[in-house]
Amino acid sequence: MPKIETARGAIESADLGRVLIHEHVFLMDMEYTYNYRPDFFDERTISDAVARLDALHAAGIDTIIDLTVLGLGRHMPALAEAAGRTALNIVVSTGAYTFDAVPAPFLFWGPGLLKDAEVEPMIGHFIGDIVDGIAGTGVKAGMLKCAIDAAGLRPGVERVMRAVAQANRATGVPITVHTAPLQHTGRDVQRVLAEEGVDLEEVVIGHCGDSTDIDYLMELADKGSILGMDRFGVDFAITMDERVATIAEMVRRGYADRLALSHDCCCWSDFFPDVSDYAAAMPNHNYLHIHNDVIPALGEAGVSQHDLDRMFVETPRRLFERAATKAGVEA
Ligand SMILES: [Zn+2]
Repeated sequence: MPKIETARGAIESADLGRVLIHEHVFLMDMEYTYNYRPDFFDERTISDAVARLDALHAAGIDTIIDLTVLGLGRHMPALAEAAGRTALNIVVSTGAYTFDAVPAPFLFWGPGLLKDAEVEPMIGHFIGDIVDGIAGTGVKAGMLKCAIDAAGLRPGVERVMRAVAQANRATGVPITVHTAPLQHTGRDVQRVLAEEGVDLEEVVIGHCGDSTDIDYLMELADKGSILGMDRFGVDFAITMDERVATIAEMVRRGYADRLALSHDCCCWSDFFPDVSDYAAAMPNHNYLHIHNDVIPALGEAGVSQHDLDRMFVETPRRLFERAATKAGVEA
């Protein structure tokens, strides 16, 4: 049985349990933190995060995938500290989040650039995070992440995406991609990753839940990828009722094994000055919204317990097991 890496070490894939496929713990601007809030990661911040993670675990979720990579303020010491104090499993990620240029350290360093390199240097960084661990913490990444937004396949976006693909092929770690569903950028993701030889069944197309375009969603799912119905509580993009109706329709059409649910929320976000401002602006955007509101609504829309188990348990487990098994990294 494959082992899956978490912030507290490797676990059996069967112990992933009920999974939220796309969350964050600390969503930061680390440069801002260093300059204007150097004491941010104190006991109050960590214990507040642990309380929120514990509440999610008490609500029946066993594992979250934290998609906080370079560009979103990944800070592994704080995450590892919080993860060590909760029973919730946290799978951490490597990769880079950009809608345009590559991260600055790679602007002039790479094949054919001012500082030439035979191989794309990002690949080595990502594989190192998976094989050796992140920033000396010993915590190994269990998910790869990149992004493509409304601007489409910008050169930096494509470079990161191809590097993520090569790290997947070398390690058997699955991939999650932030996409802009209204611009149908999931199509670019599937094309580029397939060109790199990635098995599209090892890919989560993120933020598909922001779309009600069933034809588009079926097109992506028919190529094998898992659709992230993963922004429950972001109610300004699309309502909860629309999100629920779209899932119910996809389930009715036989796609329950291609859907995974989540909120894309966090314990702390620099997008607001304080957590109270966050809660006031987005009252449903918290870890418990799916448990409290979405699952009952899905039941009323005709989604069965068996279908819920497929979306929360079987599909995430299949994603991790398939990637790990194919790379020959079984325990
Ligand atoms: Zn996210």
